[in-house]
Amino acid sequence: MTILVTGCAGFIGTNFVKYYLKKYQDRKIIGLDKLTYAGNLENLKDILGDTKPEPFFYGQQLTTSNQQQNKTNNYQLTTDNFIFIKGDICDSDLVNAIFEEYKIDGVINFAAESHVDRSIHDPQIFLKTNILGTQNLLDVAKKHWQLSTGNWQQDKKFLQVSTDEVYGSLGPTGYFTEETPLDPHSPYSASKASADLIVKAYHDTYGMPINITRCSNNYGPYQFPEKLIPLMIYNALNHKPLPVYGDGKQIRDWLYVEDHCRAIDMVFEKGRIGEVYNIGGHNEKENIYIVKKIIKILREETGDKEISEELITHVKDRPGHDRRYGIDPTKIKDGLGWKPEIMFDEGIVMTIQWYLENQQWMERVISGEYLEFYEKNYLKR
Ligand code: NAD
Repeated sequence: MTILVTGCAGFIGTNFVKYYLKKYQDRKIIGLDKLTYAGNLENLKDILGDTKPEPFFYGQQLTTSNQQQNKTNNYQLTTDNFIFIKGDICDSDLVNAIFEEYKIDGVINFAAESHVDRSIHDPQIFLKTNILGTQNLLDVAKKHWQLSTGNWQQDKKFLQVSTDEVYGSLGPTGYFTEETPLDPHSPYSASKASADLIVKAYHDTYGMPINITRCSNNYGPYQFPEKLIPLMIYNALNHKPLPVYGDGKQIRDWLYVEDHCRAIDMVFEKGRIGEVYNIGGHNEKENIYIVKKIIKILREETGDKEISEELITHVKDRPGHDRRYGIDPTKIKDGLGWKPEIMFDEGIVMTIQWYLENQQWMERVISGEYLEFYEKNYLKR
C-alpha cells in the first residue's frame, strides 16, 4: 500500500510519518510538502539520512507551462519506504504525476496554512492552499480512482485532516459533536470549513470514499514556535515577554499529537466511508493555565529563576477570538475503539523536555537556516 501524506514536514505531518512508518513497515509513504516557513525538512532527517535530492520526474506529464515555469524546482528524496517530494498541493500537474508514478492508494491531507493570526493578516494564501489545494487533490484522486462506470476502485480513501475550529465557539457548557453546525469565525477556520464541505461534496456527488477528522488543539514535538505552547517555551527560555491574549481565559481542548496520529490511522483503516469523526480527549484548559504550567515545569527542569510569571504580558485580544472549544469524542471512542493514551500532565512534561533538548532546532526553524543551508548545498544547478 502506498499513501500520499501531504504537509508531511509540518508539525502533525512529521509526527504522523514517524508513527506510521514504524507501525507499518510494509507500507510506503509519498510525502508532499511545499516547505513553507512551517514545514521543515530537518524534521525528517532521521528517516531521510543523507539521501541526496534529485529533480522530480514528471514523465509524460511535463506540459509546456511546466517547462516555462521551470518546475524542476520540485525535488525528491528517495528512501525504501518514504519518498519526500518538495511541491505544492495546488500544482495539478505535479499531483497528477505523483499519482501516475507511485500508484497512490490513499491520501491523508495535512497540508495547510494553519496559523489563525497569520490568516487574519493575509487570508488569501489560506483560501488558496486550504480550499483550492484540497480541491486539486480531490480532483486528481478522482481521476485516478474512479472507474469509467462511475464506480470506485476498491480500498481507496481520501482523509481530510480538519479541526474543531470549524464549529466556532462554545459557551461555558456543551461539546462539539459531528452534528454541530459549522460556524467558523477566522479566515483560517473558514477555509478549513470550506475544504470540509468540498470533501463532503465529492462524496455526496461522485461517491468518493472519504473521511473527515476534526481534532482539538495538538501539542508535542516539532510544532513551529509560533503556536501557544512552543512559543511560550521559546520566549520563557530567552526571558522574553510571554504574550497572552486578553484575559487568557480562552479554553482549548488539548491532545498529545501521537494520540491524534493514532486516531487518524484508525479512521483511515476503519472509518465508515463518508463520515466525520471528532477527535479530542476531554482535556480543556484555559490558556493562562497552560502558560503558568509551562513556567512552573521550565523552572523545575532548568533551575532558571528568571523564568517566572512576571514574564506574562497580557496583550489586546485577537479579533473574533473563539472563547471555548470542547470536543465530544463519543463517536470515535464507541465506533472505532480509540481513546487518548497520553494524559496532559505527562504529555506536557515530555513536550517541554523535547524542546529543551532541541533548542537548536527551534533556532534553525525560526530562522529558516536549515532549509537555506540544505538547498544551497545540495541543489546547486
Ligand atoms: P503546520 O503548519 O505545522 O504544517 C503544515 C504543513 O503544510 C507544512 O509543512 C507546510 O510546509 C505544508 N504546506 C503548506 N502549504 C502547502 C502547500 N500549498 N502544498 C504543500 N504543502 C503545504 O500545521 P499542523 O499543525 O501540522 O496541522 C496539520 C493539519 O492539521 C492542518 O490541516 C491543520 O488544519 C490540522 N489541525 C491542526 C491542529 C493543531 O493543533 N495543530 C489541530 C487540528 C487540526
